Amino acid sequence: MGGVAAKAPVCQWIKSHCVCLMLSRAESSSHWDRECRELLAACRLCPHRCGVNRLAGATGRCGAGAELLIYRFGRHFGEEPPISGCRGSGTVFFSSCPLRCVYCQNHNWSQSRPLVGRTYSPGDLADIFLHLQNLGCHNVNLVTPEPWIPHIMSAVSMARARGLSIPIVYNTSGFVTEESLKKLANTVDVYLTDLRYSSPEEAREFSGAQEYFDASRRAAMAMLAQVGPLRYQGDGTAARGVIVRHLILPGLSAATDSTLTFIAERLSRAVHVSLLGQFEPVHGAETHATLGRRVSAREYAGALRTLRGLGLTNGWRQRPGTACTELLGVWMPPSDGTEFETPEDC
Ligand code: SF4
Repeated sequence: MGGVAAKAPVCQWIKSHCVCLMLSRAESSSHWDRECRELLAACRLCPHRCGVNRLAGATGRCGAGAELLIYRFGRHFGEEPPISGCRGSGTVFFSSCPLRCVYCQNHNWSQSRPLVGRTYSPGDLADIFLHLQNLGCHNVNLVTPEPWIPHIMSAVSMARARGLSIPIVYNTSGFVTEESLKKLANTVDVYLTDLRYSSPEEAREFSGAQEYFDASRRAAMAMLAQVGPLRYQGDGTAARGVIVRHLILPGLSAATDSTLTFIAERLSRAVHVSLLGQFEPVHGAETHATLGRRVSAREYAGALRTLRGLGLTNGWRQRPGTACTELLGVWMPPSDGTEFETPEDC
């Protein structure tokens, strides 16, 4: 896979970006170039709306600059059945995250400062997408993509012009603005989004962003309006639509009740819900007074009762203690995808 490991300085990134776009007149290069640069020049890609000029070297709360950073990419089997399928999901774990979740299992690369990861151009990212498709992955799975939306839009456009045809999955905490979602309308096929907490105060305490509570709910509604409920391809994998994840947190049953009630009453009872009970107390949760344990059987049973009582029948459940530790972010090493070179068949 040529060029994937290349390290490009900012000026080279901008140059390669412009050249690639200029090659594709059908994509209206000047429009794309201007739009991507504008998004980075006063960054408001997530609800923090820092307004910093990342092209000039400034960084906001997520720590992301102008150059795209990736921690690892490759085939991944840790997602919901229609995302992982039998050949795996072509997952790109981006460095950085606008949230600071106390219990983040990806904190190695999402919360470290300076950020860790390797630098790639949007053209390299397009190569990665095509590589994942060639491996047989069912989709391209973008994990915590918010700080890198302009790079992703550009890369998807380039890759599609070169034959990328598998769905693009936007795998997010839900901390994304409605404006960013509008820009993604022609890029994303499937939204895999989280909803958590029962109040802005909880969101501030556990994820460092009180805006998360309202923003994630508004985002879920915008996602559903944009792509609709989940629809499948002939092989049973996701083609288009929304999956909402809810991670049950120990001691926060009210957050589960609030979230599931919101989904049923404000979003749609037809939405596919992934109810996750496999919380592991890692990172700051290890010694946390509330979060320093797994979800109890009683808490999980209560969440299931609420789910059923609200008529949410589509989706998947994962019981407490069933997390596959190999798939926990804290145990994942950086990767440039070279261990995933053999196409896999079902
Ligand atoms: S993506 Fe980063 S720089 Fe941009 S608004 Fe969010 S936290 Fe701020």
